[in-house]
Amino acid sequence: AADMAMCLAKESGRNRLRLYESGLQERLLEDRALGEALRRALTHEELRLVYQPQFDASDPDRLVGAEALLRWEDPEKGEISPVRFIPIAERTDLITELGQRVVALLCEQVGAWRAAGLVPPPISLNVSPKDFRGGQFTSELFRSMARHGVTADQLQVELTESTLTEHSDIVSQEIQRLHAKGIELAIDDFGTGFSSLVNLKRLPLAELKIDKSFVDGLGDNEHDEAIGRASLAMAQAFGLRTVAEGVESQEQLAWLQAHACDRIQGLLLSRPLEANAFQAMLCDI
Ligand code: C2E
Ligand code: MG
Ligand code: MG
Ligand code: MG
Repeated sequence: AADMAMCLAKESGRNRLRLYESGLQERLLEDRALGEALRRALTHEELRLVYQPQFDASDPDRLVGAEALLRWEDPEKGEISPVRFIPIAERTDLITELGQRVVALLCEQVGAWRAAGLVPPPISLNVSPKDFRGGQFTSELFRSMARHGVTADQLQVELTESTLTEHSDIVSQEIQRLHAKGIELAIDDFGTGFSSLVNLKRLPLAELKIDKSFVDGLGDNEHDEAIGRASLAMAQAFGLRTVAEGVESQEQLAWLQAHACDRIQGLLLSRPLEANAFQAMLCDI
């Protein structure tokens, strides 16, 4: 794609080529600066988790789960989106450290809630395919769980479709280890990647998350509704629990309820919450 862009830029003249090159260089420099800032952030504790509640679709007052989402507050640049910094971390060794930090932050928090007599619902963490690369992620997760007294039913792991299409031995092996420990696995952003149906059959998945890009059109776009219906039918056929992410409207909620989606996550019901605000939703033992 880069070559093609270069050709197109060349065709439209030398000035355009120079422009294109300088834009690319700027981006590369910016990425490198952000990578270095992220390295500092890891040592200066600028990273934290927020928790987005998930509710029972047929009883939207009932809290049934949550997703832990990473936040980075840079002292100068302010809040930087994971959409921006996760891909940069993935291109470097930083993703390993970042993944382990998420594990530590989550286990520490869940352990603290339990120690305080609170009962959080199972909380999902996002795992990047690259987290599996070194083969240490799962061991680190198990170590951290043991250290903070966290059990397998208190956590869940979200994998993207790209992880599942990577047919490497290490990915299959790590997925099996998580499953054997009793940790449930979810397939995230379903419908946006190229995962084949074989993966749904082959892998020990418990949950399928329908991506926001399709949830957006539920109730008024027939193509999104077709994808929504097909995804739900497929999940149901495979015995997977279903979660719709990015639910923002009453129409979308009504559509999902009518099509027997199990769980709802989105701004309609709650934005991602700081730990103390999420804690206020938890009940005592
Ligand atoms: P994701 O796992 O699909 O997470 C859902 C994203 O949708 C989150 O964005 C969440 O804040 C956002 N969202 C939830 N409900 C709504 C809604 O109703 N409307 C809109 N517009 N957005 C909604 P966020 O927190 O910016 O995270 C973006 C992505 O970054 C995540 O997508 C995930 O792929 C990645 N990410 C976040 N935290 C981590 C992490 O700890 N580790 C890894 N590897 N990736 C992470
Ligand atoms: Mg996710
Ligand atoms: Mg998602
Ligand atoms: Mg998504």
